[in-house]
Amino acid sequence: MRGVVMYTAGDVRVEEREDPKILKPTDAIIRLTATCICGSDLWPYRGVEPVDHQVMGHEYVGVVEEVGADVKNVKVGDFVVGSFVISDNTCEICRSGFQSKCVHAEFTSQIGTQAEKARIPYADGTLVPTPGRPDEDLIPSLLAASDVLGTGWFAAVAAQAGPGKTVAVVGDGAVGLMAVLAAKQLGAERIIAMSRHPERQALARFYGATDIVEERGEEGVAKIKELTNGLGAHSVVEAVGTQESFMQAVGATRGGGHLGYVGVNYDVAIPGLELFFAGIHTLGGPAPVRRFLPDLIQLIWDRTIDPGKVFDLTLPLEQAAEGYKAMDERRATKVLLTL
Ligand SMILES: [Zn+2]
Repeated sequence: MRGVVMYTAGDVRVEEREDPKILKPTDAIIRLTATCICGSDLWPYRGVEPVDHQVMGHEYVGVVEEVGADVKNVKVGDFVVGSFVISDNTCEICRSGFQSKCVHAEFTSQIGTQAEKARIPYADGTLVPTPGRPDEDLIPSLLAASDVLGTGWFAAVAAQAGPGKTVAVVGDGAVGLMAVLAAKQLGAERIIAMSRHPERQALARFYGATDIVEERGEEGVAKIKELTNGLGAHSVVEAVGTQESFMQAVGATRGGGHLGYVGVNYDVAIPGLELFFAGIHTLGGPAPVRRFLPDLIQLIWDRTIDPGKVFDLTLPLEQAAEGYKAMDERRATKVLLTL
Protein backbone atom coordinates (compact mmCIF):
# COMPACT_ATOMS: atom_id res chain seq x y z
CA MET A 1 0.00 0.00 0.00
CA ARG A 2 0.97 3.65 -0.33
CA GLY A 3 1.63 5.67 2.81
CA VAL A 4 3.30 8.80 4.15
CA VAL A 5 6.72 8.58 5.81
CA MET A 6 8.53 11.57 7.30
CA TYR A 7 12.22 10.88 6.74
CA THR A 8 13.40 13.89 8.69
CA ALA A 9 12.13 17.39 9.48
CA GLY A 10 10.66 18.93 6.34
CA ASP A 11 11.12 15.73 4.27
CA VAL A 12 7.77 14.04 3.67
CA ARG A 13 7.48 11.21 1.16
CA VAL A 14 4.74 8.93 -0.06
CA GLU A 15 6.07 5.45 -0.59
CA GLU A 16 5.30 1.78 -0.62
CA ARG A 17 4.60 0.47 2.90
CA GLU A 18 3.79 -3.03 4.02
CA ASP A 19 0.08 -3.90 3.98
CA PRO A 20 -1.29 -4.18 7.52
CA LYS A 21 -2.36 -7.60 8.79
CA ILE A 22 -4.54 -8.78 11.64
CA LEU A 23 -2.12 -9.41 14.52
CA LYS A 24 -4.56 -9.89 17.38
CA PRO A 25 -8.15 -11.18 17.42
CA THR A 26 -9.32 -7.71 18.55
CA ASP A 27 -7.86 -5.96 15.46
CA ALA A 28 -9.62 -4.68 12.37
CA ILE A 29 -8.15 -3.64 9.05
CA ILE A 30 -9.75 -0.64 7.42
CA ARG A 31 -9.37 0.75 3.93
CA LEU A 32 -9.24 4.50 4.34
CA THR A 33 -11.67 6.71 2.48
CA ALA A 34 -9.96 9.92 3.55
CA THR A 35 -7.25 11.07 5.95
CA CYS A 36 -5.70 14.40 6.82
CA ILE A 37 -2.78 16.36 8.16
CA CYS A 38 -2.96 17.64 11.72
CA GLY A 39 -1.44 20.78 13.22
CA SER A 40 0.48 18.44 15.55
CA ASP A 41 2.13 16.79 12.50
CA LEU A 42 3.91 20.13 12.05
CA TRP A 43 5.88 19.68 15.28
CA PRO A 44 8.19 17.02 13.78
CA TYR A 45 7.98 18.72 10.37
CA ARG A 46 9.44 21.87 11.89
CA GLY A 47 12.03 19.96 13.89
CA VAL A 48 10.49 20.74 17.28
CA GLU A 49 10.01 17.00 17.85
CA PRO A 50 12.68 14.53 16.70
CA VAL A 51 11.72 12.43 13.69
CA ASP A 52 13.41 9.59 11.81
CA HIS A 53 11.55 7.69 9.07
CA GLN A 54 8.28 7.99 10.98
CA VAL A 55 4.98 6.81 9.52
CA MET A 56 2.52 9.70 9.78
CA GLY A 57 -1.16 10.38 10.37
CA HIS A 58 -3.64 9.68 13.15
CA GLU A 59 -7.01 10.74 11.74
CA TYR A 60 -9.09 8.40 9.64
CA VAL A 61 -12.40 7.25 8.27
CA GLY A 62 -12.88 4.22 6.11
CA VAL A 63 -14.46 0.89 5.38
CA VAL A 64 -13.76 -2.23 7.42
CA GLU A 65 -12.02 -4.78 5.24
CA GLU A 66 -11.19 -7.55 7.71
CA VAL A 67 -11.84 -8.22 11.39
CA GLY A 68 -10.19 -10.46 13.99
CA ALA A 69 -12.07 -13.37 15.56
CA ASP A 70 -13.09 -11.44 18.69
CA VAL A 71 -14.43 -8.30 16.98
CA LYS A 72 -18.21 -8.02 17.45
CA ASN A 73 -19.27 -4.37 17.15
CA VAL A 74 -18.02 -3.71 13.63
CA LYS A 75 -18.21 -5.93 10.59
CA VAL A 76 -16.67 -6.10 7.14
CA GLY A 77 -18.19 -3.41 4.93
CA ASP A 78 -19.08 -1.00 7.76
CA PHE A 79 -18.09 2.62 7.29
CA VAL A 80 -16.33 3.62 10.50
CA VAL A 81 -14.93 6.64 12.32
CA GLY A 82 -12.35 6.13 15.03
CA SER A 83 -10.58 8.22 17.60
CA PHE A 84 -6.91 9.11 17.24
CA VAL A 85 -6.33 7.15 20.46
CA ILE A 86 -6.97 3.42 20.58
CA SER A 87 -9.16 2.39 23.51
CA ASP A 88 -10.86 -0.79 24.68
CA ASN A 89 -13.84 1.29 25.92
CA THR A 90 -14.37 -1.21 28.74
CA CYS A 91 -11.70 -0.52 31.37
CA GLU A 92 -12.37 1.63 34.43
CA ILE A 93 -10.76 4.71 32.86
CA CYS A 94 -12.77 4.35 29.64
CA ARG A 95 -16.00 3.88 31.56
CA SER A 96 -15.31 7.13 33.37
CA GLY A 97 -15.15 8.87 29.97
CA PHE A 98 -11.39 9.23 29.58
CA GLN A 99 -10.78 6.80 26.71
CA SER A 100 -7.63 8.72 25.73
CA LYS A 101 -6.13 7.44 29.00
CA CYS A 102 -7.36 3.85 28.50
CA VAL A 103 -5.20 1.15 30.07
CA HIS A 104 -4.70 -0.06 26.46
CA ALA A 105 -4.29 3.42 24.98
CA GLU A 106 -2.09 3.67 21.93
CA PHE A 107 -1.75 6.64 19.61
CA THR A 108 -2.73 5.94 16.02
CA SER A 109 0.13 8.23 15.01
CA GLN A 110 2.30 5.14 15.62
CA ILE A 111 0.14 3.22 13.13
CA GLY A 112 0.31 6.02 10.56
CA THR A 113 -3.12 6.57 9.04
CA GLN A 114 -1.90 8.74 6.15
CA ALA A 115 -2.04 5.55 4.13
CA GLU A 116 -4.37 3.43 2.06
CA LYS A 117 -5.01 0.97 4.90
CA ALA A 118 -4.57 0.78 8.65
CA ARG A 119 -4.69 -1.84 11.36
CA ILE A 120 -6.86 -0.64 14.24
CA PRO A 121 -6.31 -2.47 17.56
CA TYR A 122 -9.25 -2.86 19.96
CA ALA A 123 -11.59 -2.25 17.03
CA ASP A 124 -14.70 -2.82 19.17
CA GLY A 125 -13.72 -0.08 21.57
CA THR A 126 -12.13 2.33 19.12
CA LEU A 127 -14.32 2.33 16.00
CA VAL A 128 -17.86 3.62 15.67
CA PRO A 129 -19.86 2.61 12.58
CA THR A 130 -21.97 5.28 10.85
CA PRO A 131 -25.72 4.58 10.37
CA GLY A 132 -25.05 3.68 6.72
CA ARG A 133 -22.74 4.48 3.84
CA PRO A 134 -22.30 8.27 4.04
CA ASP A 135 -22.96 10.68 1.19
CA GLU A 136 -19.69 11.90 -0.33
CA ASP A 137 -20.14 15.43 1.05
CA LEU A 138 -20.33 14.14 4.65
CA ILE A 139 -16.91 12.49 4.55
CA PRO A 140 -14.87 15.61 5.47
CA SER A 141 -17.12 16.20 8.49
CA LEU A 142 -16.88 12.57 9.63
CA LEU A 143 -13.11 12.74 9.23
CA ALA A 144 -13.06 15.91 11.37
CA ALA A 145 -14.81 13.94 14.13
CA SER A 146 -11.76 11.65 14.36
CA ASP A 147 -9.70 14.38 16.01
CA VAL A 148 -10.23 18.13 15.53
CA LEU A 149 -13.98 18.14 16.13
CA GLY A 150 -13.74 15.68 19.01
CA THR A 151 -10.83 17.62 20.50
CA GLY A 152 -12.52 21.01 20.15
CA TRP A 153 -15.68 19.51 21.62
CA PHE A 154 -13.82 18.08 24.60
CA ALA A 155 -12.13 21.46 25.17
CA ALA A 156 -15.51 23.21 25.23
CA VAL A 157 -16.92 20.58 27.60
CA ALA A 158 -13.82 20.81 29.82
CA ALA A 159 -14.28 24.60 29.88
CA GLN A 160 -17.94 23.99 30.81
CA ALA A 161 -19.28 26.00 27.90
CA GLY A 162 -23.06 26.19 28.16
CA PRO A 163 -26.13 28.41 28.49
CA GLY A 164 -25.45 31.82 30.02
CA LYS A 165 -21.70 31.41 29.62
CA THR A 166 -19.17 33.61 27.86
CA VAL A 167 -16.59 31.41 26.14
CA ALA A 168 -13.23 32.67 24.89
CA VAL A 169 -11.28 30.53 22.43
CA VAL A 170 -7.53 31.06 22.16
CA GLY A 171 -6.35 29.72 18.80
CA ASP A 172 -7.92 29.92 15.35
CA GLY A 173 -6.58 26.65 13.96
CA ALA A 174 -8.92 23.79 13.15
CA VAL A 175 -9.31 22.77 16.82
CA GLY A 176 -10.05 26.33 17.96
CA LEU A 177 -12.68 26.68 15.24
CA MET A 178 -14.22 23.36 16.30
CA ALA A 179 -14.31 24.58 19.90
CA VAL A 180 -16.32 27.57 18.67
CA LEU A 181 -18.74 25.19 16.92
CA ALA A 182 -18.98 23.08 20.09
CA ALA A 183 -19.56 26.09 22.36
CA LYS A 184 -22.41 27.18 20.08
CA GLN A 185 -23.97 23.69 20.11
CA LEU A 186 -23.61 23.52 23.89
CA GLY A 187 -25.65 26.73 24.14
CA ALA A 188 -23.04 29.34 25.08
CA GLU A 189 -24.40 32.87 25.14
CA ARG A 190 -21.34 34.67 23.87
CA ILE A 191 -18.34 33.21 22.04
CA ILE A 192 -15.17 35.25 21.64
CA ALA A 193 -12.73 33.96 19.03
CA MET A 194 -9.15 35.20 19.29
CA SER A 195 -7.86 35.46 15.74
CA ARG A 196 -5.93 37.75 13.43
CA HIS A 197 -6.68 36.01 10.14
CA PRO A 198 -9.63 37.44 8.18
CA GLU A 199 -10.54 34.06 6.64
CA ARG A 200 -10.42 32.26 9.96
CA GLN A 201 -12.39 35.06 11.62
CA ALA A 202 -15.08 34.55 8.97
CA LEU A 203 -15.14 30.80 9.63
CA ALA A 204 -15.26 31.42 13.40
CA ARG A 205 -18.31 33.64 12.86
CA PHE A 206 -19.87 30.96 10.63
CA TYR A 207 -19.44 28.46 13.48
CA GLY A 208 -20.99 30.80 16.06
CA ALA A 209 -18.43 33.36 17.28
CA THR A 210 -20.16 36.56 18.40
CA ASP A 211 -16.98 38.59 18.96
CA ILE A 212 -13.48 38.59 17.52
CA VAL A 213 -10.42 39.70 19.48
CA GLU A 214 -7.23 40.30 17.49
CA GLU A 215 -4.97 41.27 20.40
CA ARG A 216 -2.62 38.70 21.90
CA GLY A 217 -0.79 38.17 25.18
CA GLU A 218 -1.51 40.67 27.92
CA GLU A 219 -3.36 42.94 25.49
CA GLY A 220 -5.56 40.01 24.55
CA VAL A 221 -6.30 39.32 28.22
CA ALA A 222 -7.14 43.02 28.77
CA LYS A 223 -9.53 42.92 25.81
CA ILE A 224 -11.34 39.83 27.15
CA LYS A 225 -11.67 41.54 30.55
CA GLU A 226 -13.01 44.66 28.88
CA LEU A 227 -15.68 42.58 27.12
CA THR A 228 -16.71 40.81 30.36
CA ASN A 229 -17.13 43.66 32.87
CA GLY A 230 -13.57 43.20 34.07
CA LEU A 231 -14.20 39.61 35.18
CA GLY A 232 -12.81 37.43 32.41
CA ALA A 233 -14.64 34.67 30.53
CA HIS A 234 -16.50 31.88 32.35
CA SER A 235 -15.01 29.34 29.96
CA VAL A 236 -11.74 29.51 28.09
CA VAL A 237 -10.38 27.08 25.52
CA GLU A 238 -6.64 26.93 24.86
CA ALA A 239 -6.03 25.38 21.44
CA VAL A 240 -2.49 26.42 20.53
CA GLY A 241 0.03 25.12 23.09
CA THR A 242 2.60 27.90 23.31
CA GLN A 243 3.74 29.76 26.40
CA GLU A 244 2.03 32.95 25.29
CA SER A 245 -1.26 31.32 24.35
CA PHE A 246 -1.40 29.29 27.55
CA MET A 247 -0.78 32.29 29.79
CA GLN A 248 -3.28 34.27 27.72
CA ALA A 249 -5.84 31.54 28.39
CA VAL A 250 -5.09 31.45 32.14
CA GLY A 251 -5.35 35.24 32.31
CA ALA A 252 -8.62 35.37 30.36
CA THR A 253 -10.40 32.92 32.72
CA ARG A 254 -12.39 34.53 35.53
CA GLY A 255 -11.94 33.45 39.15
CA GLY A 256 -13.81 30.19 39.59
CA GLY A 257 -14.04 29.80 35.81
CA HIS A 258 -12.98 26.81 33.71
CA LEU A 259 -10.06 26.41 31.36
CA GLY A 260 -10.03 23.55 28.85
CA TYR A 261 -6.62 23.08 27.24
CA VAL A 262 -5.98 20.88 24.24
CA GLY A 263 -3.05 22.53 22.45
CA VAL A 264 -0.09 20.16 22.70
CA ASN A 265 2.14 21.93 25.23
CA TYR A 266 5.74 21.98 24.02
CA ASP A 267 8.02 23.63 26.56
CA VAL A 268 5.20 25.47 28.27
CA ALA A 269 6.12 26.30 31.86
CA ILE A 270 3.25 27.56 33.97
CA PRO A 271 4.47 29.73 36.85
CA GLY A 272 3.07 28.11 39.99
CA LEU A 273 2.10 31.37 41.65
CA GLU A 274 0.23 32.61 38.60
CA LEU A 275 -1.79 29.42 38.41
CA PHE A 276 -2.32 29.44 42.18
CA PHE A 277 -3.67 32.98 42.32
CA ALA A 278 -5.77 32.53 39.17
CA GLY A 279 -8.19 30.39 41.21
CA ILE A 280 -9.56 28.51 38.20
CA HIS A 281 -10.55 24.97 37.23
CA THR A 282 -8.35 23.38 34.61
CA LEU A 283 -8.82 20.21 32.57
CA GLY A 284 -7.04 19.19 29.40
CA GLY A 285 -4.79 16.76 27.61
CA PRO A 286 -5.36 14.42 24.68
CA ALA A 287 -9.10 14.49 24.13
CA PRO A 288 -11.19 11.39 24.86
CA VAL A 289 -12.74 11.71 21.40
CA ARG A 290 -14.32 8.25 21.66
CA ARG A 291 -16.64 9.53 24.42
CA PHE A 292 -18.21 12.02 22.01
CA LEU A 293 -18.08 10.07 18.72
CA PRO A 294 -21.59 8.54 18.70
CA ASP A 295 -23.21 11.95 19.33
CA LEU A 296 -20.94 13.78 16.91
CA ILE A 297 -21.59 11.24 14.14
CA GLN A 298 -25.33 11.70 14.65
CA LEU A 299 -25.08 15.52 14.54
CA ILE A 300 -23.14 15.22 11.27
CA TRP A 301 -25.49 12.59 9.86
CA ASP A 302 -28.50 14.84 10.59
CA ARG A 303 -26.61 17.76 9.02
CA THR A 304 -26.96 19.79 12.23
CA ILE A 305 -23.26 20.66 12.17
CA ASP A 306 -20.82 21.11 9.30
CA PRO A 307 -17.32 20.67 10.75
CA GLY A 308 -15.94 19.62 7.34
CA LYS A 309 -15.58 23.27 6.38
CA VAL A 310 -12.29 23.41 8.34
CA PHE A 311 -10.63 21.60 5.44
CA ASP A 312 -9.58 24.33 3.07
CA LEU A 313 -7.28 22.27 0.87
CA THR A 314 -7.88 18.80 -0.59
CA LEU A 315 -5.09 16.85 -2.24
CA PRO A 316 -4.54 13.24 -3.27
CA LEU A 317 -2.46 11.22 -0.79
CA GLU A 318 0.38 11.17 -3.34
CA GLN A 319 0.74 14.94 -2.88
CA ALA A 320 0.99 14.82 0.91
CA ALA A 321 4.33 16.67 0.85
CA GLU A 322 2.63 19.70 -0.70
CA GLY A 323 -0.08 19.47 1.97
CA TYR A 324 2.50 19.64 4.77
CA LYS A 325 4.17 22.59 3.08
CA ALA A 326 0.87 24.45 2.69
CA MET A 327 0.03 23.99 6.38
CA ASP A 328 3.54 24.88 7.49
CA GLU A 329 3.37 28.11 5.48
CA ARG A 330 -0.15 28.73 6.82
CA ARG A 331 -1.57 28.71 3.29
CA ALA A 332 -4.00 26.07 4.55
CA THR A 333 -5.72 25.59 7.92
CA LYS A 334 -6.23 21.87 7.44
CA VAL A 335 -5.49 19.56 4.55
CA LEU A 336 -7.66 16.60 3.57
CA LEU A 337 -5.96 13.77 1.70
CA THR A 338 -8.08 11.69 -0.64
CA LEU A 339 -7.48 8.06 -1.52
ZN1 LIG B 1 -10.01 1.47 28.40
